[in-house]
Amino acid sequence: MPLSKSAYALLGLTAIVAVLVSVIAFALLRFIAAARATRQRSREGGDMALLSLALQEAVSKLKSQERATAARADASERLSGEIITSLTAGLLVVGLDAEIRILNPAGRRMLGLGEAPPLDNYHRVLADPLSQMIDECLATRAAILRRTVTLEDARSAMHFGVTVSPLFDDRAELHGAICLFSDLTAVMDLEEQLRLKDSLAAVGELTAGIAHEFRNGLATIHGYSKLIDLQALPESYRPYVEGIRAETSSLTQVVTNFLNFARPAQLTLTRVDLRAVCERAAEEIRADVRALGGDLDVRGQFGALEGDEVLLRQAFSNLLRNAVEACAEASMAPVVVIESEVLPALQISRISVNDSGPGIVPAARDRLFRPFFTTKRTGTGLGLALVQKIIVFHNGRISVGTSPQGGASFQITLPLVP
Ligand code: ADP
Ligand code: MG
Repeated sequence: MPLSKSAYALLGLTAIVAVLVSVIAFALLRFIAAARATRQRSREGGDMALLSLALQEAVSKLKSQERATAARADASERLSGEIITSLTAGLLVVGLDAEIRILNPAGRRMLGLGEAPPLDNYHRVLADPLSQMIDECLATRAAILRRTVTLEDARSAMHFGVTVSPLFDDRAELHGAICLFSDLTAVMDLEEQLRLKDSLAAVGELTAGIAHEFRNGLATIHGYSKLIDLQALPESYRPYVEGIRAETSSLTQVVTNFLNFARPAQLTLTRVDLRAVCERAAEEIRADVRALGGDLDVRGQFGALEGDEVLLRQAFSNLLRNAVEACAEASMAPVVVIESEVLPALQISRISVNDSGPGIVPAARDRLFRPFFTTKRTGTGLGLALVQKIIVFHNGRISVGTSPQGGASFQITLPLVP
């Protein structure tokens, strides 16, 4: 039976509705699925954020711990560096390869090595007595405690107190040596100065009395010889009397000189300008120097001290006179320089009297300051003894070396007043 028109219409409508419903249902399903996925994603995102936060916290905690550790290591390294640098003693560390690992500024100063890091073999850098001590310590693997060594050069001698210890690592294996040293020069010079002062005082007291008696006797003999009228004597006797006069007067001179030297030192203390003292001593002898075709110069920085101006001038005069005599004897034109520097840290003035003469023969060096040591035909040998006495009684010291011109160089250190 054929369907009616309206039945077709109903069927068509139903189909359209069904299609629409299914489209809507599909869309709804898609929507729900999308919503669920979004919710899921957002939940997962939250977890991720939490995780990364925790991670960040852990990382920053680690970083700050690392910074603190590095700062502590830095501080401890800085501290040990500061200790090494500020040590007033010399510190030297060497490895088994003989390479210098550490040498602090005080050590460098004492050894006279400049600022350059001496990362070198210690046998090349150090003087023999020091490097021998390190050799000995490394060979015996035992410490050497407070040994005194003397380092000498042309200008001066230095005394060091040295301790060398072997360096072991935590497995007790030897890997080097550590050497601590301090400069004892000033202390030892002071000791020597005190000894000298004592012995000079003893000599002075002992001999001054005898010398005095001697001089009185000589004066009497000389007086009687003067009373003898030469004209009244037979011609042949005259030379004897003249001989007695000449000999007694020269002996009197010797005894007077010795008395001057041996007399217990009594200083008349005033404030003395060392430059003025040297200038005046130079002035006294400049004419002689010029006459020999030479020159005399006073230069540098001097200071002032509490001392006896007359005696100090006499000391410098003696040195200058010796310099001129030495040059003249060797037929050389005397070029004499008094050069001074002030060392403010030590409160001392270091004065050198340098000449261009023949210099001092090494054999004479030790005896130079002894009374009566002379190489001159008419010398007294008391000039330098007196110079030394004057300097020592001003709490200074004097030594002799070679001048830049190759002649003699007398170096004097005197303590200054502030
Ligand atoms: P003197 O001058 O009477 O000989 P000194 O005590 O003044 O006594 O000197 C002792 C010796 O030291 C001198 O005889 C000389 O041999 C030596 N001497 C001193 N000064 C110098 C000098 N500037 N250059 C070389 N030799 C010197
Ligand atoms: Mg002399």
